[in-house]
Parts: sequence; structure tokens; C-alpha cells
Amino acid sequence: MNHDTGILFVLSGPSGTGKSTVISGLLARRKDIRFSVSMTTRLPRPGEKNGKNYVFCSRENFERAIAQDLFLEYTEYSGEYYGTPKKDVAACLAAGYDLLLDIEVDGAMQIMEKCPDAVSVFLCPPSLQELENRLRARGTESEEKILSRLARAKIECKSAYKYSYIVVNDALETAVRELDAIICAEHCRKELRYCSYINT
Ligand code: ADP
Ligand code: 5GP
Repeated sequence: MNHDTGILFVLSGPSGTGKSTVISGLLARRKDIRFSVSMTTRLPRPGEKNGKNYVFCSRENFERAIAQDLFLEYTEYSGEYYGTPKKDVAACLAAGYDLLLDIEVDGAMQIMEKCPDAVSVFLCPPSLQELENRLRARGTESEEKILSRLARAKIECKSAYKYSYIVVNDALETAVRELDAIICAEHCRKELRYCSYINT
């Protein structure tokens, strides 16, 4: 572990739990962390911007990027591809910034295997009923997609124990504060602090 490089954080949680909302709150609080913009073949939702929320692309382009080995991890979720571009991760960490990935469980397992220093956080909804309420209130998916995301949510929640930390997104402000506290705690790890200390 090198104290000059940033820390890689992986945030997972069922669709509709509030990952994007919590991440927005976190990025507003911390200027030393960057968000990894994934590539996806799904269509943009109203208000989503290409290059900010995702890089939106065709299946053909995504499959070309797979063949060129451009992803640190990728998966298919709800009939669409999602992947983390390798180059952004390496560049950001080398520049000393922390990097936050918002990725589902299958991709998170790939990252944990490839990057053992990555810190993983699972964001839980307060209940499955509240998850359904949030997904429906967001109003961005068809009924069919809502049902498939809810079915997947039940499976994903069973993987929460594989993560280093679990945060429940009940009150938004509390969830943001807890994620911020995890990041602070990881920077206080003796492996990082002791290196800095003996080198001064
Ligand atoms: P995800 O990125 O996990 O799919 P979103 O961030 O899009 O989820 O949030 C899903 C919906 O839930 C949004 O409409 C958002 O405004 C709402 N939401 C997020 N966090 C909370 C919270 N703590 N309490 C109530 N509603 C929330
Ligand atoms: P959404 O379509 O709701 O934006 O995202 C659907 C799911 O894909 C979410 O669980 C989100 O965390 C996940 N996701 C977003 N980007 C990536 C990625 O690059 N890789 C993987 N494996 N999952 C991703």
C-alpha cells in the first residue's frame, strides 16, 4: 500500500437504494474524491449527462472495448452492459485522489479480486418495501424493469456480508455522514499513517 496514491472505494447496493443520491452528497462534502464514470449501453434517464453520469454507448462500441481489454471490470445487468474503464482508475489513484466506483455486486467481486486494497461498502435500503417505493417514485423504469430490479435486489442483499462496511440509507444525511466517516477511517489506517510518519 502506497501512501502517495489514492484509495479505491467500491459502493454497491440494489437499484433504487440511493447510491447516486448518497454519492452526490458525499462529493459535495469532499473535494479529494473523484467519481468513476462508467460506460453503459442503457439509455440516459432525463437529466443524465453523457460523460458525467455515464459514458453512453452502443452495444457494438461496448463489445469493441471489451475486446480491447479496456475495462477493469464489466457485467451485464438488466439486459445492458456496464463497465469501469481501466485508464480512469489508474490515472486518478496515481494523482493521489480517492476514487469511488458505483457498481453492482458482480463487478464489485471482480474488483475485490483484482484490487485487494479496495475498500468495499454495501448501501442497504431500510426495507424492501421502501426500496420498491423509491424505485417507483423515481419513475425512470418500466414496470417490467422495476420487477426485475426488485428480484435482483433480494439476491444482491444476500451478498452484503462480503463487503467491508454496510451503511443503511434511511435518513440521507446519516448515510452520507457514515460514508464520509468510513473514508476518513481508511485514511487513518496504520499502514498509511505509519509510512507517512516514518518518512517525515
Ligand atoms: P440508486 O443510484 O441506488 O439506483 P437513486 O440515488 O437514484 O438510487 O435513488 C432512488 C430514489 O430514491 C431517488 O428518487 C432518490 O431521490 C430517492 N432517495 C435516495 N435516498 C433517499 C433517502 N435517504 N430517503 C428517501 N428517498 C431517497
Ligand atoms: P443504473 O442503470 O440504475 O444506473 O445502474 C444499474 C446498476 O449498475 C447499479 O447497481 C449500478 O451500481 C451498476 N453499475 C453502474 N456502473 C457500473 C459498472 O461500471 N460496472 C458494474 N459492474 N456495475 C455498474
